[in-house]
Amino acid sequence: MAGSKGSGAETRIGAITRRAAGDESSGVRSAPPLSVYVHLPWCIRKCPYCDFNSHAVLGNSHAVLGNSHAVLGDALPERRYLDALRADLEAALPQVWGRPVQTIFIGGGTPSLFSPESIDELLTMLRTLLPVVPGAEITMEANPGTFEAARFRAFAQAGVTRLSIGVQSFDDEALRRIGRVHDAAQARRAIETAAGHFDTWNLDLMYALPGQSLDALRTDLREALAFAPPHLSYYHLTLEANTAFALHPPVLPDEDAASEMQSVIEDETRRAGLQHYEISAYARTHRRCAHNLNYWQFGDYLGLGAGAHGKLSFHDRIVREARVRNPREYQRAALGESSEGPIASSHAVPARELPFEFMLNALRLTDGVPASWFVERTGLSLLAIAGPVARAVQRGLLDPDPTVFRPTPLGARFLNDLQQMFLPE
Ligand code: SF4
Repeated sequence: MAGSKGSGAETRIGAITRRAAGDESSGVRSAPPLSVYVHLPWCIRKCPYCDFNSHAVLGNSHAVLGNSHAVLGDALPERRYLDALRADLEAALPQVWGRPVQTIFIGGGTPSLFSPESIDELLTMLRTLLPVVPGAEITMEANPGTFEAARFRAFAQAGVTRLSIGVQSFDDEALRRIGRVHDAAQARRAIETAAGHFDTWNLDLMYALPGQSLDALRTDLREALAFAPPHLSYYHLTLEANTAFALHPPVLPDEDAASEMQSVIEDETRRAGLQHYEISAYARTHRRCAHNLNYWQFGDYLGLGAGAHGKLSFHDRIVREARVRNPREYQRAALGESSEGPIASSHAVPARELPFEFMLNALRLTDGVPASWFVERTGLSLLAIAGPVARAVQRGLLDPDPTVFRPTPLGARFLNDLQQMFLPE
């Protein structure tokens, strides 16, 4: 759990402040909450805007759409991948020994391509090898295109407590333009089924889609809100490097139009009883995503699976690590079939980079975070950021309350500018 300021802090603060100017790593006195992320890297086909570590399970053939789960199941190396995850976790255990796991997130890729039996085995493995706290939030991502009602129920029975459904839009033409494999009717059925089996669930939506008008956005939003979702994630579609859209860019709404859409989303979700608690996330009371909150609050997470990232705190350093990205190579590495292990990179974050890393996350939150967490979770003194904090307050980007780091409405609007004020000089 999060540490607290205690006696002896002054001596330590002096030492840490001196270190903050250099490239040495930092450490924390007591580790923050720990989450586990598991990456399942396959999708039916690659969406043209996607820069995640996801791989088309049968190549990018359009002929595999629909409910071809038997074919997909044969193509997915579920058994071998689960064995690789187990080996990866067993090797990682000494790094997190005895620390309770607060949340689990199974992401991808399209994790719902894996069978309920595999998800059950994965969760049993995690619970057996790690002290997962009772009632832990366990999220799994699912796509409506891979939807089967029986599977959703079986995922819930396997222990998934929260389903995150990648709907993106309820407009068939918009879905086609962004290369999604599902249609709006499948999305509606998926939501109704998820609502019947999960206490809490999330809709992933996107705005500023190719050719999208403000009216079309309103229609999408109205339809989403009619399902009374406990949680909405609403992302601005952006063109990322190394994607099909970067090579052949579609015409997207301009910045002013996108900003107007964002305002409509904020107004309508507020009216529907959802709180805008993070730059792209809206939730009802007690329905915020605990796993993502832990990222934004600079908590720790163990990342398992191809390309998964992790952040772990120790008494003398904070370490960031990344697993081997290519699924085939990851499995070989984790299963001891190659000379390298599954961890592709691991480095202690230099103390001078921690203020930016902390603020990059914390300032995404509408409520911000307590200022004391900066000390507890980076091991640095507040003096290490006194300069940029004062400048951000003066520019009206940061709340002047010294007990909290919270963006003002202006700061939230110019979040990049605010975050960049904490970059190392
Ligand atoms: S379904 Fe999601 S993870 Fe898979 S390619 Fe599309 S956007 Fe990427």
